[in-house]
Amino acid sequence: MTSTTDSDDPSLLWGKKKRQATRSSETVAIPLSTDADYTYDYLLNRIPRVTSLSESKIIIPTPILSRVGRRTRINNFGEIARSINRLPGHMTAYVRIELGCPASLGDDFNHLTLRGTFKQEHIEKIIKTYIHKFVICKTCKKYTTTMKKEIRLEFVVCESCSSKHSVEKL
Ligand SMILES: [Zn+2]
Repeated sequence: MTSTTDSDDPSLLWGKKKRQATRSSETVAIPLSTDADYTYDYLLNRIPRVTSLSESKIIIPTPILSRVGRRTRINNFGEIARSINRLPGHMTAYVRIELGCPASLGDDFNHLTLRGTFKQEHIEKIIKTYIHKFVICKTCKKYTTTMKKEIRLEFVVCESCSSKHSVEKL
C-alpha cells in the first residue's frame, strides 16, 4: 500500500523496511541509542566511499518513522544520508527548510526529530527531491558524486564524468 508513485524516477528505489512501523498512531517506544558516544569524525569515516554507489541505480533505506506525541521521528535518517554519501547535517538543513519546521538530529547522527506530524510519503518525497538536487550528476545521471564547498558556492562533483554543478547553499 505504501508503494507510492515511483514512476517519476525508476532509478531510485526504496529498500525494504527492516521493521514494519506500527499502523496505529500510538506512541512508539524508541530505545535510546547505545552508540551515542561516537565522535563526529568517527561517523564521518563511516560514510561509505562513493564506489559503493557507482551505478546509475540506487537503493536507499526506506525511512522508518515513528510518532512521539506531536513529533515525527525518522529513525534511520543517518543511514539514509550515508547511503547517498551525504552528511546527515546537510540533509537535516534541507529537511528543515522544506518542511518549515524545527528538525533536530540526534546525538547518534542517525535519528531526526521533526516538530509536527508528517506522512511517510511526504518524507520520502523530500528525500527524493534532496537526491535530485544534491546527489544526482546532472550530466551523466549517476549517483557517484561528492559535495565540495568553495567560498560562496557549493558543488556536486561527479566522480564518474568529472562534471560539476553548483547547488544552493543550505
Ligand atoms: Zn557524472
